[in-house]
Amino acid sequence: MTNRINRRDFLKLASLASLGMVIPPSARAAGSRLQTEKKNVLIVVFDALSAHNISLYGYQRETMPNLARLAKRATVFHNHYAGGNYTTPGTASLLTGVLPWTHRAIRFNDGVRDNFAQKSIFHAFDDYYRIGYSHNTLVNTLFKQFIDDLNEYVPQEEFFLVNDGLIRNVFGNDEDTATVGWARTIKRAEGYSYSLFLSLLYEKYRDNKVADTASLYPYGLPSVNNDNFFVLDQSIDTLGDRLAEIPKPFMGYFHFLPPHYPYKPHKDFAGAFTGDSFKPLSKPDDLFTEGRSDEFLDKWRVPYDEFILDLDHQFARLFDKLESAGILDDTWLVFTSDHGELFERGIWTHSTAALYQPVVRVPLLVFEPGVQTGHDVYDPTSAIDLMPTLLHLTGHDIPAWAEGTILPPYATTVIDPSKKSVMAVQARYNEPTFPITEASAMLVRENYKLVYYTGYRELGADSERSLLFDIKSDPEELNELSQIKKETASEMTDIIRKRLEESNKPYR
Ligand SMILES: [Zn+2]
Repeated sequence: MTNRINRRDFLKLASLASLGMVIPPSARAAGSRLQTEKKNVLIVVFDALSAHNISLYGYQRETMPNLARLAKRATVFHNHYAGGNYTTPGTASLLTGVLPWTHRAIRFNDGVRDNFAQKSIFHAFDDYYRIGYSHNTLVNTLFKQFIDDLNEYVPQEEFFLVNDGLIRNVFGNDEDTATVGWARTIKRAEGYSYSLFLSLLYEKYRDNKVADTASLYPYGLPSVNNDNFFVLDQSIDTLGDRLAEIPKPFMGYFHFLPPHYPYKPHKDFAGAFTGDSFKPLSKPDDLFTEGRSDEFLDKWRVPYDEFILDLDHQFARLFDKLESAGILDDTWLVFTSDHGELFERGIWTHSTAALYQPVVRVPLLVFEPGVQTGHDVYDPTSAIDLMPTLLHLTGHDIPAWAEGTILPPYATTVIDPSKKSVMAVQARYNEPTFPITEASAMLVRENYKLVYYTGYRELGADSERSLLFDIKSDPEELNELSQIKKETASEMTDIIRKRLEESNKPYR
């Protein structure tokens, strides 16, 4: 296809464009031969946004008043699950429609297996104009694998306040090495650098450039990997405007970093929950506890919640922008996350083997083009259902590789809820081309959730362990039932063991 660019072209374009977006020369012309009667699709992901901390889903702090207002016009999925518990597996599941043990992007910053490089949502929408952006480096690793199926790839650096495009202009031929070289020589992220003079100069340049903006952020500027500062307004505004310009129909995937750590809300939101009367439930330490005290966890939860309040405001701005441009009349708009965040049982963030609700249960809202009424879905659903659903809604065939099913309100056949399995997988310390031997996997079926652990040192003499919860009557997962509901636990454990075994077959 003439409107595609390969990785080499992409790097060449990227090295030339330090400020302007990277647009393949043939891209603008592509619209004429695309079918315009098809509806657009836009997926908006906010990284590490737990449903647990969203007021719309019952959280006691009013973290998302705008989302609650907009939800009256959306299909709201109340029991929606990420495919994994951190960015790499969670996003790869969103983008490929399969679980982590299938796509195998399981370690930090992994890509999917080679045979999945052409099995992404971008590939499936090959008659659409496809545009992708992510603040998060781990997502960009995946984008680079899917680059042949992207008409427009907006580089991560595009919305950094101090644009590292300078690196590419100077060392354009070898971006990866140059970035490392630049970081070692100039940046003092790890407390030292090779060139004291250059690093002082760089810091001065950077600080001058961001000083005015920094005064708007009492906890410090939002950033990616230490000092790549950004403000959400800028990326929201530019990408929102861009959607009005690009050929239709488009398929967009925008992945914003907030509320991922470091939690840095704008001054309008910083302090909103500081010192309030909300007291989170204290839960017993988990097998995978990191030894964090409740006091520590409650302290960090506050800026996280305030950062959610910030992105709620920004998402509403994007929504209003798209609505006033008339784009929402022709666009399926999806609001979701790649995984959640934990502030309980001695565990903080999402670098954990645990799969408790706050780290796997994420928001999902689907806004239908031109529709003003809302709808609630309580059946368990998965991130891997999104790709087949969007393909179905836009008249595409669902590819054979997809593991998910069409989401309940849009499916033409009703799935028996006792047969519907929703799973999530964590296997970050396994070599992807070997059988997975150390992992956590979750299975949600009707009101039960089973978490299966295998191969961890923490398990001691046991090689595996299953935890069972009735998440309908016990949504906080305080009563572990595997010894009381032995039959259910063993049946659900068997389902997971079998699926894990199947996923390992090609690697034995
Ligand atoms: Zn993430």
